[in-house]
Amino acid sequence: MNLCVKYCLFMVAVVLGSCSAWGPAVAQTTHTVFYEGSENELHVYRVYGTKPGKTLLLIGGIQGDEPGGFLAADLYADFSLEAGNLIVVPRANFPSILQQKRKVNEDMNRKFADDNVVNYETKVVKVLKQLIHESDCLLNLHEGSGIYSEQWEDSMRNPSRFGQSIIADAKVFECSKTGEVIDLEAMAKTVISKMNSHIKDPALFFHFNNHMTRKEDTIHQEQRKSATYYALYTAKIPAFGVESAKALPLEQKVRQHIYAINGFMELLNIVPETPGVDLKEPELKYMIISVNGSVPMVVMKGQRLQVKPNDSVEVLDMEVNYERGLSVDIVGLGSRLNDMGKKVRIEQETRIIGKKDFYPCGSVYLDFKPDAGGPWDRPIVSESVEKDAPMIYRIKVNNVRQEVGNDDHVELIVGDTFEIEDIVTPGIDPSNFTVNFKGFVGNSSVNTGEDRGCVVDTGKKVLMKRYSMHQKGRHYYVVTTRGDTEVGRLYIDLKPNTGQER
Ligand SMILES: [Zn+2]
Repeated sequence: MNLCVKYCLFMVAVVLGSCSAWGPAVAQTTHTVFYEGSENELHVYRVYGTKPGKTLLLIGGIQGDEPGGFLAADLYADFSLEAGNLIVVPRANFPSILQQKRKVNEDMNRKFADDNVVNYETKVVKVLKQLIHESDCLLNLHEGSGIYSEQWEDSMRNPSRFGQSIIADAKVFECSKTGEVIDLEAMAKTVISKMNSHIKDPALFFHFNNHMTRKEDTIHQEQRKSATYYALYTAKIPAFGVESAKALPLEQKVRQHIYAINGFMELLNIVPETPGVDLKEPELKYMIISVNGSVPMVVMKGQRLQVKPNDSVEVLDMEVNYERGLSVDIVGLGSRLNDMGKKVRIEQETRIIGKKDFYPCGSVYLDFKPDAGGPWDRPIVSESVEKDAPMIYRIKVNNVRQEVGNDDHVELIVGDTFEIEDIVTPGIDPSNFTVNFKGFVGNSSVNTGEDRGCVVDTGKKVLMKRYSMHQKGRHYYVVTTRGDTEVGRLYIDLKPNTGQER
């Protein structure tokens, strides 16, 4: 797809507000909120790959004082996948996270079996159980105190500790759906060997930790009420607890969880897109503007800032749903490319376009106060009003500004320069339109059809005759479109230069 087509699609998308050239072209993520508005609001992200495959469920933050797990899970909510799927619950137990406590009413990871007490934990577990049934594998991401070791070494490193281990409730289990015997130990050990290749200190190597939860003599009977046990024996999918040692630095714990998640994704043929492509439509939220060095004011997208003629306006910052590639253009004033952080004298009413790369993402407007005067005059922010006014072209002929209406004729003599600075389209952001001087290519490398801001030097044979009426090179026109719909024209009558020999 060439740039022109992309740009055109973008313009159409802005206008129609639907089927965007931005947004998920391939991979897709959905975000579902359960118990919205309550303290135990539960956010679930389903990341679908372009190619089908297995679904891995990541549960983070089931106990609020284990950030290594939920901070790692959180990163996967923004993933894009080539194949397979992820279901990510970064913060299963948000109230416990806010209080940095293992539990609020009851331990949420002990409510997957008989549950006699109904509380918010019950409600969340109900959703988690549904998600387990949607999945092919579960990772419950934890931090454990001490370090697991098959042999007793000391009170912090022994078989009853959890840290630095991948836990399963059994060595193998028979999936009753497929009759397949799944070797949980082999799965875990494959992942562990990859994880350990990233860990320098052998004392911190991960180990497989078989809780043998169903056996009578297990030392982990309480795990029969856990999410992994439910997943294994009720939903009958492989399930693991990933435990990093609580005492380690946070970053190290998060990384270990990432290695574990990546390892299991690889096992399940869940393939990430690297880098992930997430082209959401760029959208301005607000600009922070200072007038004459005043206290900065927030001007929301579409709002109008009333200033006095020749006030100095500086855009200090803006909020867009992207962080990079941002610039602002004070139309017709300031510098050619980027006016961010520059004090610009406002000689005329205009607008400030926020841009992400070359895509306009919203405007704020600078109007002159009708009754300006006096040192008490302060800039005022007002809402954009739907005005029932006709469209206006702001043009420059030989660098002299003027405004002309829709369907007007502009007379030029060969040798004149002509520029369309902008259009004024009451109630609608002028960025949503394309203003195209037919027969003139403003930017020959990328012909977007957009000619605002380009200077047409009629003395330099930059106009293509075949686009003029009757192909005589006398009568050209500017066409303004919104999406596929033409909304206005401006006629350019070009007369030969007879007054002067050249
Ligand atoms: Zn835990």
